[in-house]
Amino acid sequence: MTEDNFTYEVRCETCRSRFKVQLFESHERNLFLVDKKDWYCDKCKTAYARRQTAQLSQAHQEIGFPELTGSAKMLTWAEKVRAELINKVNYLKQNITHADAAAEKLSNDAFDSFFMEWQAQTSAKWWIDNRRMTVRDISKRIAEISASLKKS
Ligand SMILES: [Zn+2]
Repeated sequence: MTEDNFTYEVRCETCRSRFKVQLFESHERNLFLVDKKDWYCDKCKTAYARRQTAQLSQAHQEIGFPELTGSAKMLTWAEKVRAELINKVNYLKQNITHADAAAEKLSNDAFDSFFMEWQAQTSAKWWIDNRRMTVRDISKRIAEISASLKKS
């Protein structure tokens, strides 16, 4: 078997240009994929990623997060990570029950401070480095901030 056995020609859904892909399942399965799957050429994939990144960046700026710095590839990754992490914080915030109004105010202040810490992060690399942050990690940091707010 040579490499050619795995090479199939497909058509980009966006620009309709033809390009070759390598598929490594059974010939029948490969033909099915060639026919049924939505294929996108590298050029259209890159353009799509840029648009997605620009949209996320815009949405983040609207909620007070700065434009990020880094290579195009890092920006694409970092904006996705940032969106996921912000979702985790919002999820946490929505699922907290407060004992009373004072506790609720303290909690809201802590979340505000927490977001301010994140809003100071302008490098794509920081977000990528912190991509594994869990709801538990975030909750721990919020608790620390709450404790220091209580003291002051
Ligand atoms: Zn294309």
